[in-house]
Amino acid sequence: MPVTLPFEVTLFGSPFWDNLALLIGQILLILILVWVVFVLVMVVLIVLSIKRKHLYFPMLLRPVLAFTEGAVATGCQVLGVDSGQLMEFLIRIDNDMNTTMFAAVPVESRAVFFPHCLRSAKCPARLTPDGLKCISCGRCGLGSVIPPLEDAGYLTFLIPGSTFVKRMVKKYRPQAMIGVGCIVEVKEGLELGKRIHMITLGVVTKTDGCVETTMDWDELLEVASIGLAEPIVRREEERKE
Ligand code: SF4
Repeated sequence: MPVTLPFEVTLFGSPFWDNLALLIGQILLILILVWVVFVLVMVVLIVLSIKRKHLYFPMLLRPVLAFTEGAVATGCQVLGVDSGQLMEFLIRIDNDMNTTMFAAVPVESRAVFFPHCLRSAKCPARLTPDGLKCISCGRCGLGSVIPPLEDAGYLTFLIPGSTFVKRMVKKYRPQAMIGVGCIVEVKEGLELGKRIHMITLGVVTKTDGCVETTMDWDELLEVASIGLAEPIVRREEERKE
């Protein structure tokens, strides 16, 4: 049997506060629904972009992803996109969005950061305050790309750890950088670039594993040549891979 109270139940004791609480509840519900719709749209766009190898609406994807990344990652996983593919995709979007600004930076104000794992295990390079100094001994591919990059005007750094990046940026003040590394390192590098307001492009190595990793040197030089009148080419005599 329903119980009838001898007084009117109000949340804050007045109809005004009750109406306000109701309004806030409705607004929250609408915001949650909008967020869910955004997440679903993001998941569909990302899965389609990855499967069809074409970037759909990159200008929309990046800003919205900033506040939906966790939920989008879960949605993508449900649809068969693993975290590695998603990270690669996010790197592609960041690169795509930064390319025009990167092209406008003079080559003398650009830097390339290489991870030390690209070296041969028998690398004779010495560690200096600016990182390892490659002597182009021919034991790995770095010797064939560092000299032409430097000849073109690039600052190059072969670094044993990511703390070097911040230190070198502070010391040499480049306006743009290319970060080379495994997917995780490149993603972290792009995030660091955003934090320190540096135009950053990432190039992912072909293999990871911390020792004698490999990469597509031509892809790197293609990225490094963005905005330059002449493409940078590898030194044939020091080609190893
Ligand atoms: S080419 Fe440079 S980085 Fe590679 S092993 Fe020789 S000195 Fe080391």
